[in-house]
Amino acid sequence: MVHRLKGGCHCGAIGVELLLPRPPEEEIVGACQCSFCRKHNARTVSDAGAKARLVVREPAQLQCYDFGLSASEVVLCRRCGVYLAMLMREDGAAWTTINVDALDERARFTRPAEPRDFSGEALAGRRARRKARWTPTELVGWPEEGGSLSPESTRAAAPATPAR
Ligand SMILES: [Zn+2]
Repeated sequence: MVHRLKGGCHCGAIGVELLLPRPPEEEIVGACQCSFCRKHNARTVSDAGAKARLVVREPAQLQCYDFGLSASEVVLCRRCGVYLAMLMREDGAAWTTINVDALDERARFTRPAEPRDFSGEALAGRRARRKARWTPTELVGWPEEGGSLSPESTRAAAPATPAR
């Protein structure tokens, strides 16, 4: 049975849908020890048997932030500041770990969060692990959808383009 969960940022600009193969109560919850997730005390779920959608209703509010090895980016709402997911993209496909607390039914994730520290991992191994363990994700309404990837248009660290 598929368990359908919905959520999103606080102001509604970016929505999240997660189809889990098992009840949230049985999902393993991770506490990523990366420097970003620590600052949010984030709990995340990544299940390769799940499916996720990140639905951008207001593209101007989409904020992607990357750091470290840039193997992935953090997806945030520019207006309300909510941290939605870690995202990795490759060859037109996408994988995420979803921030459990951005989901409406966050209270159903009752397993204690397991600390995960991948800081010693090389970039190649990191991408392979994520493809095997993260959740395949459909990006809906993203500015670069259907065209060539131009993440710079939404990336905070890129040189400023005056019109955003
Ligand atoms: Zn928002």
